[in-house]
Amino acid sequence: MSEVSRDAFIDGRWVPGSRRFAVRDPFDNALIAEVTAADEGLVDAAIDAAVRAFPGWRARTGPERGGMLRILAALMLEGEHRLAMLCTRENGKPLRESSAEVRYAASFLSWFAGEAERVYGETIPASYPTQRLTVGREPVGPCALITPWNFPYAMLTRKLGAALAAGCTVVAKPAEQTPLCALALAELVEQAGIPAGVVNVIPTDDAVRIGGRLLASPAIRKISFTGSTAVGRLIFRNAAEDLKRVSLELGGNAPFVVLADADLDAAVAGALVAKFRNTGQSCVAANRFILEAPIAELFTQQLVASIARLVAGRGSDPGVELGPLIDDASVAKVQRLVTDALAKGARLVHGTPPERGSGRLVAPVVLDRITREMAVWREEIFGPIVALRTAVDEADALAQANDTDAGLVAYVYTRDGSRQARMAEALEVGMVGVNEGLVSTAQAPFGGIKHSGLGREGSRHGLDDYTSLKYIAKRL
Ligand code: ADP
Repeated sequence: MSEVSRDAFIDGRWVPGSRRFAVRDPFDNALIAEVTAADEGLVDAAIDAAVRAFPGWRARTGPERGGMLRILAALMLEGEHRLAMLCTRENGKPLRESSAEVRYAASFLSWFAGEAERVYGETIPASYPTQRLTVGREPVGPCALITPWNFPYAMLTRKLGAALAAGCTVVAKPAEQTPLCALALAELVEQAGIPAGVVNVIPTDDAVRIGGRLLASPAIRKISFTGSTAVGRLIFRNAAEDLKRVSLELGGNAPFVVLADADLDAAVAGALVAKFRNTGQSCVAANRFILEAPIAELFTQQLVASIARLVAGRGSDPGVELGPLIDDASVAKVQRLVTDALAKGARLVHGTPPERGSGRLVAPVVLDRITREMAVWREEIFGPIVALRTAVDEADALAQANDTDAGLVAYVYTRDGSRQARMAEALEVGMVGVNEGLVSTAQAPFGGIKHSGLGREGSRHGLDDYTSLKYIAKRL
C-alpha cells in the first residue's frame, strides 16, 4: 500500500479532521498513511451518532443482529490477504501471523453472531400463585472500546462482536500505532449493512485527551479497555465518577512451568508459541520460565536449539517468524530488562543483548539464573527475551509462578494427571494452559484476576459485560 490518507468513521461517513498524524511501518519507519486525529468535536459527533443509533439497533431482533455479524465475519475472511498485509505493514508481525489474526478476529464475530441468538432470560418460581417473576437481559447502551496495537483486529472484534450482539452501539478508539486495521474493519462494517452510527471509529495520537473525553461523556455507559495495567487503573478510577461499567483486559506476567516429568518436545513446541507469537508482544506471552531442576538443563538446550532456527525480518518477507518490535520505546524497555538482569547475576545462555541504536529488529536472547530481584521477573517483557529460573520441586514452582501481582494466564507442562490438577487449581490466574501453549479461542472466556483485569471476553460469558439484567415481578 502506498501512502494514503484516512479519516474517522462517524455515523456511517468518512469524516476528515483539522489535523492528521503519521502511521509508520515499524520495520523501517516508512510512512504508510496520514490519519485524521479526532479532536473533541469528532469524539462528540461519534458519541452522538452512537446514542442516536442505539434505540434502533437494540430494537432489532437477536437473529437480525447476528446475521449482520455473520456477514461481517465473512467479509473479513474474504479479504484475509489484504487485511493481513495491512496488519503486517502497520504492526510488523509476520504475514502468516497476520493471516491467523484475521481468522481469529473473524471467529469472534461468528461466535457472537451465534450468541446474539441466545441472549436468554429466565423465569423464577414465585412465592405466590398470582405472581410471575422473569429476568431478561438488556444492552447497557453506547460503549467506548479502547484497543491496543498488538492484535489490532482481534482485540477490536472480541469487543465489537459482543457489544453488537448484545444490542449496544460503539465508539472505538484504536491504538495510535495501528489505526488502519480498525478503519479497514469499519469499511467492512459499512459493506455488511450494519446501520450508520452503530459502529464509529475515531483514530487519535492523543489518547489521554480523547480517552478523557469518552470517559467524561455521560452518554457512554460502558468502557471496554485492553492495554497496560497503568492505563487500565486510570480508566477504572475515572469511570467511577459516572459509574460506568468497566471491562479491563490488562497486563500479564505468565509463568511457563515445566515439571520434571513433562514431555519436553511438547514443552519446547508450546514455549515457542507462548513466547514468540507476535515477537513476544502479547499479554499472554510466557514471561517467566520456571523449570523443575532435573530437566532444567535439557529443556534449555532443546529450547535454545529451536530458538536458534527462528528467522527474524520484515514481516512480509517469506519465511520470517519474528518481526520488529512496535516502536523505539519497546526496544529500549527490552534493553533495560536485559541489562538489569545481567547486572544482577543472570547468565546469558543464547543471543546478544540488544544494543542502543541497533534498530527495532531484536534477536532472541535467553537468560537463566533469573531471580525475583530482577525487573524481568516483575514486568511484562513484550519482546523475544526468554527468562529462565529453576525450581527445586512442584511446590517451589507453584510459589514462584504465583509470585506476581498479575493473574492472566499460566502454562504448565507435566504428564502426571494429579500434578496437572493440583497446579491448575492452585495457579492464581484466569486461564491455564495444561500442556498447551495457546489458550485464546473465541468460545472460551479470556481474562484475568488480580492486576490483570476485570471481566471476561469471548465465550458465552462475553455478553455479560454488555448486558444488564432486568427483573420483572408481575401480579396477575
Ligand atoms: P500499550 O503499552 O499496549 O501501548 P496502553 O495502555 O498505553 O498499552 O495502550 C492501550 C490503548 O489505550 C491504546 O489504544 C492507547 O491509545 C490507549 N490509551 C493510552 N493512554 C490512555 C488514556 N489515558 N486514556 C484512554 N486511553 C488511553
